Amino acid sequence: MNYDLIVDKFDREHLWHPYTSTVDPLPTYKVKSAEGCIITLEDGTRLIDGMSSWWCAVHGYNHPYLNKAVEEQLHRMSHVMFGGLTHEPAIALGKLLLGLVPPSMNHIFYADSGSVAVEVALKMAVQYQFASGHSEKNNFVTIRSGYHGDTWNAMSVCDPVTGMHSLFGPALPVRYFAPSPQCRFGAEWDECDIQPLEEIIVQHHRELAGLILEPIVQGAGGMRFYHLQYLREAARLCRQYGLLLVFDEIATGFGRTGKLFAWEHAGVEPDIMCIGKALTGGYMTFSAVLANKEVAGCISSHYPNAFMHGPTFMGNPLACAVAKASVELLLSSGWQEKVRSIESQLKKELAPAASLPQVADVRVLGAIGVIEMKKPVDMAWMQRRFVEEGIWVRPFGKLVYIMPPFIIRPDELSRLTAALVKIVKETE
Ligand code: PMP
Repeated sequence: MNYDLIVDKFDREHLWHPYTSTVDPLPTYKVKSAEGCIITLEDGTRLIDGMSSWWCAVHGYNHPYLNKAVEEQLHRMSHVMFGGLTHEPAIALGKLLLGLVPPSMNHIFYADSGSVAVEVALKMAVQYQFASGHSEKNNFVTIRSGYHGDTWNAMSVCDPVTGMHSLFGPALPVRYFAPSPQCRFGAEWDECDIQPLEEIIVQHHRELAGLILEPIVQGAGGMRFYHLQYLREAARLCRQYGLLLVFDEIATGFGRTGKLFAWEHAGVEPDIMCIGKALTGGYMTFSAVLANKEVAGCISSHYPNAFMHGPTFMGNPLACAVAKASVELLLSSGWQEKVRSIESQLKKELAPAASLPQVADVRVLGAIGVIEMKKPVDMAWMQRRFVEEGIWVRPFGKLVYIMPPFIIRPDELSRLTAALVKIVKETE
């Protein structure tokens, strides 16, 4: 490997990267191009992608169908404001999405990113309660180990410890946190699991606008897979006590967990649902917040008769066009079979890690494979070793996890998992 080519001095001195220091930053590797599930560095080193660029690039990189959608839209218009104007890409995407999300979802609010979608969803819940005469219901309950993004209110509902925002604690609105669900996905249900959430809701429902959670898979807050009955019980409590149920499907959406959306595991429909990440196949930042008729109608028929949010780049035509192409591609790609075979291969090939003394747990759901270590990993060392072994995996804390593009070939996935297990073995 030629480090002079893959480490950039300007980048190191001037560009801020996520969750690292500017004074002594973790190394960043300069990418020349990416194609399929291969990321090529400036010196020609080829890495098999295990991250889908943080859950996004489900079709891999540089896909001709997605490129074409962007190019065609670019020649028509890259952007027009959504206030007072509309366009075919937004309409066509909306029609496509409404056929895929829970049947009760009826209105779509296009937003800029996952975090903004969460902000929008929380504002929607508060405005709904205001519109229905319950302005005192303006706080939220959530579960620990959750992650919902980096903006202010999104941070406030992330796990206060593992959610990466603990130092902002005193500056954030104070939410209610139930312990994270303990019953694992696929294990036996224990009804005690829902009790702590029930207690909070019973005690505080008069001030609660809603419950927000990531259905089935908690992502960046701990990579945990929990029992579907938890969602059913949570939904029951929300209905009983007048809370809106908000699902953050930003990471779980578009097939990653083995269902198109994770709500389908439990058959529980939320009142509001956020989607993002893989929505554009990783081409650009974009998200959507879906709401049912009751929420959209109630907000719109009470003062001020409009939902109070309107970002500059709302409904960006380029993003809508590539999102529509990405969803079409997914639906015609046989994704279910692909995710199923990735799942069984991950189960088989990650299993040997479970008996390693360094490893606390190995778990797989859909196209997500997690090795939970006993101790936090040395990120810089591990990242370098992964690159040396020709794979791209970015661990955090105790979690070494992969969620490859769905187009990954079995032989590429085997190389990815073999290198992963090899390096996990090398840790102290
Ligand atoms: N919600 C969930 C479940 C996420 O995983 C993330 C991103 N990791 C977000 C929200 C925030 O999305 P974004 O980074 O696009 O703002």
